[in-house]
Amino acid sequence: GPADADAVLAGLDPEQRAVATALHGPVCVLAGAGTGKTRAITHRIAYGVRSGVYRPQQVLAVTFTARAAGEMRGRLRQLGAEGVQARTFHSAALRQLQYFWPRAVGGEVPRLLERKVQLVAEAAGRCGLRVQRTELRDLTGEIEWSKVTQIVPEDYPAAVAKAGREAPRDAAEISRVYGIYEQLKRDRGVIDFEDVLLLTAAILEDRPEISEQVRAQYQHFTVDEYQDVSPLQQRLLDQWVGPGSSLCVVGDASQTIYSFTGATPDYLLGFRTRHPDATVVKLVRDYRSTPEVVHLANGLLAQARGQAAQHRLELVSQRDAGPDPVYTEYTDEPAEAEGTAHRIRELLARGVRASEIAVLFRTNGQSEVYEQALADLGLPYQLKGAERFFERPEIREAGMLLRGAARAGADTLAVDGPDLAAQVRAVLATRGFTPEPPGGSGAVRERWESLAALVRLAEEFESAQRAAGRDADLAAYVAELDGRANAQHAPAVEGVTLASLHAAKGLEWDAVFLVGLTEGMMPITYAKTDEQIEEERRLLYVGVTRARVHLSLSWALARSPGGRAGRIPTRFLDGLRPGSSARSGARAGRGGHAGAEAGGERAGGRRNRGPVKCRVCGRALTEAVERKLRRCEGCPSSMDEALFERLREWRSEQARTHG
Ligand code: ATP
Ligand code: MG
Repeated sequence: GPADADAVLAGLDPEQRAVATALHGPVCVLAGAGTGKTRAITHRIAYGVRSGVYRPQQVLAVTFTARAAGEMRGRLRQLGAEGVQARTFHSAALRQLQYFWPRAVGGEVPRLLERKVQLVAEAAGRCGLRVQRTELRDLTGEIEWSKVTQIVPEDYPAAVAKAGREAPRDAAEISRVYGIYEQLKRDRGVIDFEDVLLLTAAILEDRPEISEQVRAQYQHFTVDEYQDVSPLQQRLLDQWVGPGSSLCVVGDASQTIYSFTGATPDYLLGFRTRHPDATVVKLVRDYRSTPEVVHLANGLLAQARGQAAQHRLELVSQRDAGPDPVYTEYTDEPAEAEGTAHRIRELLARGVRASEIAVLFRTNGQSEVYEQALADLGLPYQLKGAERFFERPEIREAGMLLRGAARAGADTLAVDGPDLAAQVRAVLATRGFTPEPPGGSGAVRERWESLAALVRLAEEFESAQRAAGRDADLAAYVAELDGRANAQHAPAVEGVTLASLHAAKGLEWDAVFLVGLTEGMMPITYAKTDEQIEEERRLLYVGVTRARVHLSLSWALARSPGGRAGRIPTRFLDGLRPGSSARSGARAGRGGHAGAEAGGERAGGRRNRGPVKCRVCGRALTEAVERKLRRCEGCPSSMDEALFERLREWRSEQARTHG
């Protein structure tokens, strides 16, 4: 009843409450990081459901990542609103496409293209072009950008010129590759990620009776992170939201960090123009971060320029005072990683949980050295933003094995046999899984962490089943895994999070380490235009605002021990970190001398450990990248191919960003 629903409003401030109670929309929330946007929309849905205004099946909550969708479902369950759909644009569209394809097009739904980059390579080959591996990814990125901004191959050259976008190679060539890529997909009856949205939108536009059916199904929409919606996603949303529907969007223009993929804050900022009757709510109370962290975030915002900056909102922390952000300058990258790992160990010793700590970097290639440093200290960690848990090859394989074992075990095992986790461990052991983590880092370690998560899940499942008075056999566990895979619920790995700044969006941790904050990384070398530089600044703002209490910012003067100390800290911290003064002019020059104005403490160099040798063959390693991994690239045996793949990627990424 209504009194029951009101309980949902108890945890909200007056502005958030205004959002939650405006059930019929349109509603637009413009607010900075940590002000409770996600919380407000989650409570709004729960309020709608519990007051009986929304039927749960009629609600679609659109989130930016599958993980965010999973978290929202969990929160809604806690708030007593089960059965609400929380999905990404992509997963919602895919479901509709699968459902309506037979009727709209006929036949089977095309398969999803798995190796997109390979197909782009093939298309380039057919155009007679030779492209490097790194270039291939840029080329793929251009095709993706074109598709989400709804540019067909013929229009690509003109569109690039108009957008002031720097094409990775001749625009006419890219246009040809893009065209052939589309042709190849058609010939093979496969579709790519973007096609899922394009085709769904096209079906809904062409077939009024289908769009009527969709509109009858979903009537209440919320969109989180609306500042990063692409034109293609907006087109889909326009199809979904009918005249009788309610729409609530929340976003922060200062957190637009995906414009390279076609995302734009225009829809957020123009919401009121398109919906003159919209309730517009601004939130300024920051519930996430301490005043010290918020002070730095506000400082970054104050220096921001451009369109998004005109809509910035000063944040006001609601939390008690905490420690000041810590700024640290290191001599080289391995020293930075080692120093970070030691700080993390101190936090753990002081009782901060590993899952409440994150190390955030600009490019995924930077993770390797941190993985190594954490592994050296025996600290658990997990990589974010990589493949989704249940889609990882090792998890698929494990799933098959467990299913087989469950079938075989159905008649042989008495359920007083070994406990479930022990059975799972035994099955995984046949594929080399060990109870203790293997030494080393990279893909090998990641694979182990994934499998360990399956074991932990078995433990949790077993105790939950026991508590409910039910049996927990392997078959029940496999069914649970299937259920989770369908819901894309990855079990949380208990470890320090390593993630790119992009992947950290919307998340929060007690302690956040922002590493590698040098010119060239932040802003990244290839950010050249003022707009691109501003996006880099927003990225740092996103990073800073992930921290609840402890915030560490660090950089290294040289790449490798003994290397040339030619790096300087990011311009974005000028005037904000102690000992620095604001640099004059909008764009700071490169190559200035770092020592002159470096603030914060200076950390010692790395201990000299003698020559670093390959773990496999024992050869002394000379290449910096090999030294970091402690393996030589040419080593013939026992190396996981995936690790080398990442090594190569990392190498080229490094080559690109450090010249
Ligand atoms: P971001 O822009 O980073 O996505 P956000 O605006 O979505 O941030 P939330 O993640 O919803 O912010 O909230 C930030 C933190 O503050 C969360 O831990 C949330 O539970 C807490 N919080 C939000 N509103 C309140 C409130 N009224 N009372 C107590 N805690 C709150
Ligand atoms: Mg949020």
